[in-house]
Amino acid sequence: MTANHPNPTTIALVTGANKGIGREIAGQLAALGMTVLLGARDPGLGAVAAEELRATGGDVRPVALDVTDPATVRAAATYVEETFGRLDVLVNNAGITGATAATRGTDAGRQTPSRADLDVVRRVFETNVFGVITVTNALLPLLLRSAAPRVVNVSSGVGSLGELTDPTSPLAAIPAGIAYPTSKTALNAVTVQYAREFRDAPIRFNAADPGYCATDLNGHTGYRTAAQGAAVSVRLATLGPDGPTGGFFDDEGPVRW
Ligand code: NAP
Repeated sequence: MTANHPNPTTIALVTGANKGIGREIAGQLAALGMTVLLGARDPGLGAVAAEELRATGGDVRPVALDVTDPATVRAAATYVEETFGRLDVLVNNAGITGATAATRGTDAGRQTPSRADLDVVRRVFETNVFGVITVTNALLPLLLRSAAPRVVNVSSGVGSLGELTDPTSPLAAIPAGIAYPTSKTALNAVTVQYAREFRDAPIRFNAADPGYCATDLNGHTGYRTAAQGAAVSVRLATLGPDGPTGGFFDDEGPVRW
């Protein structure tokens, strides 16, 4: 059945793409001519975002996908298999900080280590780490049918232990938090382990640092635009055959672990 789906167009799936950086990644990949599956946990929001991006000329299709809900992940994988027979690009973008609009910028919002609420920490890991493994493993069989599969995990500079422990780094000054930053450190480690397992295959796994972008995630306090933050993921999604795997990159190049 899968052999009967010849499709010369690159097929990409972006999780958490109804808004923010993910929406921009979806739009930029579509502008390159890819067929983009716009993942959204709220199908209504996904349909609206996909329609808006389609209006700019791209082939963007909504896919209901909550990365913490294995049933929706399985359904999305079945849809991709039945419709396209393979997947070329997966961008694991969906992410949460654990803060709410009310707690952002407070101890509770950042989950100060000594006062952490383990339920919040677990929730953040469920989305930012375990969700990535769930989605990646569900789609891996379809990715491995592509001639040049690319997996991008949207991480963060605050996941870099090198930055956080360097007193000269601007990131060293941010208050300690044990949910979001540690989840991105774990995501970086997850990226490396996938790259190690598939080091002899054409598939590439890399982590992207979008920089500090103005989105709902941080109450729009970032100094970069979501479009700027999307660019590094797009670059990693379109790596050539000699491109790296198991790396962590921002716009400037490699980011230290
Ligand atoms: P955002 O505007 O809050 O968007 C986050 C997206 O993830 C939304 O579409 C959200 O869906 C989705 N999402 C959350 N939980 C999900 C789940 N369980 N299943 C599926 N989708 C889910 O944030 P953003 O700034 O664009 O963040 C995108 C990625 O960039 C995240 O991984 C974030 O950690 C990373 N990042 C952001 C910055 C920054 O400065 N903004 C910096 C470094 C890294 P809903 O609309 O349904 O909530």
